[in-house]
Amino acid sequence: MKHPIFAANWKMNQGPADALAFMRQFLAQYPRQQDRSVLIFPSALSLSAVTGALSDRPDIQVGVQNIHWADTGAYTGENSAAIARGAGARYVLIGHSERRHVFGETDEETGKKAAAAERAGLTSMICIGETLAQREAGDTSTVVLRQLRAACALLTAHQIAGSLVAYEPVWAIGSGKTATPEDASIVHAAIRSELRSLTEERGEGVPILYGGSVSKGNAVSLLAAPDVDGLLVGGASLDPDGWSAICRT
Ligand code: PEP
Repeated sequence: MKHPIFAANWKMNQGPADALAFMRQFLAQYPRQQDRSVLIFPSALSLSAVTGALSDRPDIQVGVQNIHWADTGAYTGENSAAIARGAGARYVLIGHSERRHVFGETDEETGKKAAAAERAGLTSMICIGETLAQREAGDTSTVVLRQLRAACALLTAHQIAGSLVAYEPVWAIGSGKTATPEDASIVHAAIRSELRSLTEERGEGVPILYGGSVSKGNAVSLLAAPDVDGLLVGGASLDPDGWSAICRT
């Protein structure tokens, strides 16, 4: 039996007032569930609005979309893992495609960020995925496994076993194009096999989520695919009605 994880990446949407209104509406129609978990990644400035709306809901946890790799210092505008933890985050997205492709985040930086998350007690969701050109060149598994190894480079096998992975093909994010469940499964199986060796055979329990234009319409078939343990959802997580429908998949 799967215990699916439904993760919402709000990106740069929903300020504190909108986040609070969202949470009230979402919680009203999504009662506590034992057989699944929900993670919400709001803007860092809306974190307290989201955590403040959650009481007695261990099935819903909150994270940040990014951290800096240093613990403290002269990094104007950035947030450390410890600051995020202190503000109520328990999870962090590492290496989201927009961090890599809009902000130029490198593989090496993802590794440093994952290590910083560990130092502060945040759980990493390591995001990996190939571009369309890389897929068409037949390089999908080379690229995603390289990104996975780099993000895990400074972690122990035990720490990797406690992380989550999100496979998000870059060409599917925000584009309306989704990987087929079969395509997602093939890549997830390659990730699973790499996780087994990175964790010294403790990788079976690492959740591997699929992300990229997930909607109410395709959530059921994607989640049913072998090795798909959850869904990371951007655009479709911004509407409380639609999001609660996806979380009930
Ligand atoms: C994302 O931002 O992680 C994502 C998957 O976005 P979307 O669902 O909008 O494609």
